[in-house]
Amino acid sequence: MNGLMMQQPLLISSLIVHAERHHPDREIVSRRVEGDIHRTNYVELAARARRLAKALAALGVAPADRVATLAWNGYRHMELYYAVSGSGAILHTLNPRLHPDQLSYIADHAEDQVLFFDMTFLPLVQAVAARLKTVKHFVAMTDRAHMPAADATGAIPNLLCYEDLIEAQDDHFVWPSFDENTASSLCYTSGTTGNPKGVLYSHRSTVLHTMAAALPDCLGASATDTILPVVPMFHVNAWGIVYLAPMTGAKLVLPGPGLDGKSLYALFESEGVTISAGVPTVWQGLLGYVEENGLKFSTMRRSAIGGSACPPSMISKFLNDYGVRVIHAWGMTEMSPIGTAAAFKSKHLTQTPAQRLSIMSTQGRAVYGVDMRIVGADGQELPWDGKEAGDVHVRGPWILGSYFKNEGGDPLVKDAAGQAWFPTGDVAKFDADGYMMITDRSKDVIKSGGEWIGSIDLENIAMAHPAVAMAACIAVAHPKWDERPLLVVVKKPGVDLRRDELLAFYEGKIAKWWTPDDVVFVDAIPLGATGKMQKIKLREQLKDYKLPTA
Ligand code: AMP
Repeated sequence: MNGLMMQQPLLISSLIVHAERHHPDREIVSRRVEGDIHRTNYVELAARARRLAKALAALGVAPADRVATLAWNGYRHMELYYAVSGSGAILHTLNPRLHPDQLSYIADHAEDQVLFFDMTFLPLVQAVAARLKTVKHFVAMTDRAHMPAADATGAIPNLLCYEDLIEAQDDHFVWPSFDENTASSLCYTSGTTGNPKGVLYSHRSTVLHTMAAALPDCLGASATDTILPVVPMFHVNAWGIVYLAPMTGAKLVLPGPGLDGKSLYALFESEGVTISAGVPTVWQGLLGYVEENGLKFSTMRRSAIGGSACPPSMISKFLNDYGVRVIHAWGMTEMSPIGTAAAFKSKHLTQTPAQRLSIMSTQGRAVYGVDMRIVGADGQELPWDGKEAGDVHVRGPWILGSYFKNEGGDPLVKDAAGQAWFPTGDVAKFDADGYMMITDRSKDVIKSGGEWIGSIDLENIAMAHPAVAMAACIAVAHPKWDERPLLVVVKKPGVDLRRDELLAFYEGKIAKWWTPDDVVFVDAIPLGATGKMQKIKLREQLKDYKLPTA
């Protein structure tokens, strides 16, 4: 039809082009692995991203190739975000907290061609380099002066230096234009059963998600804000903040490896941070430090908290003691990640503090673009009456259609009208205003400090012990980490097995922080009609169990 709008693809490169032109001198401040504070701005970052795009091409990176990173939040990581996706390749952010076996599985599955890493992760890269089947180049994200000596690189062949790559190029480069449905970045999640699965974002989904995330009732960012994402860039693109800051012209403060209360607080104050985002565990550390030292936040006004349920006591402490408004948000890797945020409606403004706290403590209401429903065990949609809880289903332009390489088959379910929904694995009720309250999880996983622990992996290891007849791993509440794994075991008849012996059996087989906190020996684990372990029943049986205090 004639007389329509221009056809212009929504591309990630447009974000950095916009920031360079309209907010050239806005700063990006990073605490570097080298230990110092580094300052740059959007005009410099854009130019370096263009050089890096040329360097990637020189290394043979082609459109749709996967380029992996093992890195903290820092300006070099940000340059990679734009150089890789902007040139049509796919940025694959690896989670350095995973066990080397899992990391190499994921890198092989993704067929990563190049691996960029912060020097902190040199030992990890040394441990996996020889096993990685597809990685052709390893790049240390540092300058020549900080490169490890050749004899210290161990198993890493032909280690390249990031600053050398940038130095070798000029910045005469025009970002290519292509279909907005082209894949831009890849993030694996172990939040479901089976092997970790890849969630592949597109340019279109990313730009649309960024616009929604920036809205006033979500992160609420503007050009006058200074944002510090505590949430790592390897957790769903730092919840979109790596894109949202250039889109809005906000100053960006990247904390690198310094995630303890003291280091974070110093950056909040020295850089005038107004907005931050992270999981509850991190805020506990920060609040603890601020309280112990009788400090205040002089510029912070908003803190997005999600990844796990944020306790109401934290929300009220932030507000009443420090004047910081917590935006409790919910989402998941499969949702880019933002789905809901607990912003007020007009009628809440005149309510009592207690009523407002109860709204702020919900997981929030859907941001535009995310359609939601809850269904009962029979698949029928349930009402939003604040009483009935059901499985949360979502749909929208930044919600997963299928996992990378179709791993795990079709994850979607159809409603009576034939519309496809993504089942989140969360169980919730909604009130009549559309505020969601998560009550449970139907997926069989444990979330500790905002990171997944695969219960099946832990059970499989226990089952490999000769004295174990049956093992189930469940989440139990923990004051600092939100949840920790508890192993419930039925011993084989007539054998002797002690807790410490079984826990020692985990050594070297998983990341150390995955080790169950305790073992409970029982006579039987409840089984369902199909012989499946009934973990909900088991959790119910062990509801009075208390973790040992270390
Ligand atoms: P991830 O894919 O690692 O981002 O994890 C997503 C999952 O974390 C969700 O499906 C929930 O189970 C949990 N989650 C995220 N945000 C919240 C929240 N605000 N409250 C409770 N659980 C949450």
